[in-house]
Amino acid sequence: MCKKIDFLFLFLTIALGNLLVLNSAFGEENHHSSHAHIHGEADANIAMIGSSLEIEFISPAHNLIGFEYEARTSAEIAKVKQTESVLGDPAKILQLTGGECDFVDIAIESGFSLKDEDNHDDHNHSHAHHGLEENKTDTHSNFKVKYHTSCDSGLFPNSIEFLLFKHFKNLSRVNVKWISENKQGSKRLTANNSVVGF
Ligand SMILES: [Zn+2]
Repeated sequence: MCKKIDFLFLFLTIALGNLLVLNSAFGEENHHSSHAHIHGEADANIAMIGSSLEIEFISPAHNLIGFEYEARTSAEIAKVKQTESVLGDPAKILQLTGGECDFVDIAIESGFSLKDEDNHDDHNHSHAHHGLEENKTDTHSNFKVKYHTSCDSGLFPNSIEFLLFKHFKNLSRVNVKWISENKQGSKRLTANNSVVGF
């Protein structure tokens, strides 16, 4: 009897663990805490399941456009547009080695008036004013890009190089988490070490 219960408990623990891993791999909206908003750093989640390879990239806007307030001047608006066009061109962002994958959909989201209520303490950029009142009105924003690819006969790449560092000098680190049907891993990428293998 006791053994049966232990087995059930173990099974539930494993099932729950897998569920949590999948959720964080897909980085759904309700998982704000899975990535901190730290200037200089970004997150990437890679999921290889069935015949689809999804790559999600989440970065503070600071890393990509140099500011996080709503773009108003023509120079700021041009910067946002130019950045979106780079992010929207997978050949400039990701180099897949091996596999037979085609990019079928790319979605770019940026929120310029989103308040960052979580993880404020982790934040390492300097603010002009540092009173508690000012902090309440601080705004931060992220870019989130989802690259969806379809891979013939589920043949996935052996590695992916992140070319982002070449375009975005404010970006110094990308924390990658990846999951496939039978493996998972993580890696911290930098400009000199920008390839994740599976
Ligand atoms: Zn910020």
